Amino acid sequence: MLEQLLFVLIAIAAIWLFARNVKTIRRNILLGKDIDRSDNPSERWRTMAMVALGQSKMMTRPIAGFFHILIYAGFIIINIEVLEIIIDGIFGTHRILSFAGGLYNFLIGSFEFLAVGVLLACIIFLIRRNIIHLKRFSGVEMKGWPVSDANYILIAEILLMTAFLLMNATDNKLQQLEAAHYHTAGSFPVTSALASLLPNNESTLVLIERTCWWFHIVGIFAFLNYIPYSKHFHIVLAFPNTWYSNLNNKGKFNNMTSVTNEVKAMLDPSFTPPADATPGRFGAKDVTDLTWVNLLNAYSCTECGRCTSNCPANMTGKLLSPRKIMMDTRDRLEEVGNNIDKHGKDYQDGKALLGDYITPEELWACTTCNACTEACPVNIDPLSIIVELRRYLVMEESNAPSSINNMFGNIENNQAPWKYSPADRTNWINN
Ligand code: SF4
Ligand code: SF4
Repeated sequence: MLEQLLFVLIAIAAIWLFARNVKTIRRNILLGKDIDRSDNPSERWRTMAMVALGQSKMMTRPIAGFFHILIYAGFIIINIEVLEIIIDGIFGTHRILSFAGGLYNFLIGSFEFLAVGVLLACIIFLIRRNIIHLKRFSGVEMKGWPVSDANYILIAEILLMTAFLLMNATDNKLQQLEAAHYHTAGSFPVTSALASLLPNNESTLVLIERTCWWFHIVGIFAFLNYIPYSKHFHIVLAFPNTWYSNLNNKGKFNNMTSVTNEVKAMLDPSFTPPADATPGRFGAKDVTDLTWVNLLNAYSCTECGRCTSNCPANMTGKLLSPRKIMMDTRDRLEEVGNNIDKHGKDYQDGKALLGDYITPEELWACTTCNACTEACPVNIDPLSIIVELRRYLVMEESNAPSSINNMFGNIENNQAPWKYSPADRTNWINN
């Protein structure tokens, strides 16, 4: 009874903490400006099913894609058993869902194969990151916490899967020994092979089984509360992120309402802008000038580096890394959120995304080719953040490279990007 009570208390605390963390992240995301992404819902559901659930963009790198899908499928499917563990934990039962008979045996057997697959994939990923040192996982932004975070999760997955398999192995042996409480339930095609390696003493087996059971479930509760602080929150956010992704043709820029209104007023003196059309800041200087979809993107980034490894600016040695743009956006947003928690919503810390996190040099290295958005496995759009920050530089600070400023001057004076007067436009006919 004491064990059940302890389990219920731990479960309630873990779920409460997770809900609190999710609420904070939702609050932070909604600090962004509003944008309507409710159009074309059928296309949005299709995109989410293909990209988030079906992992369609992962297979552009087939080996990494295969192992990632294995971990993803294993993580989701094996956690179905967590439902049973929770019910058993609350009521003190043993494998309560075993009444499903053949289906139950099939599921438990499949979970074991998947757990072995997840274990192997995590070991391969650890080797790839720490021994082979894949170039995609390096870069100025991949120092300290992002490296540790990725390793912690892989190690945690290995420990959880090991505990899961050892729990099954000892449970199976206890069933064979007809121990009290351990009635026959489940099929153990993988862990039955470990039976001869386990002790025959019933109380030792129960101790190992209970330790693994508690480790597995407490580990999952801990994992639940770790992921909101980690890039692994993409497990959850990949779904809304793909649903709200940009369905426009890539490269289509949005017009700024305030500028559109000004142009309309110039062309048509009778035009009066809508009463609520108060122009805010042009472009974005800080995270609160970005849209909530940009901020959702930042929290959804898996730090995989596929964007950066496809970025022509990065490939040619420029400072720009689209992954860093997303990571900087998330770090700044977290900072703004923490400031609100500590000092209230109007607190200004004198810092901004532009300047303190992202430099103009990075921004002007972008060719706006969209290779980053094309490569992103969860449909993140780093370019839209780059464009907004550039807009701020140009429109609020007139801070653009001289070649661009010359072009702007020419457009303004000559209605063309070249330095020639409009009156000379047809000179070429005479020459
Ligand atoms: S759009 Fe810019 S950031 Fe993205 S890949 Fe192209 S150059 Fe790199
Ligand atoms: S933006 Fe996309 S491609 Fe780039 S690191 Fe993040 S998840 Fe990977």
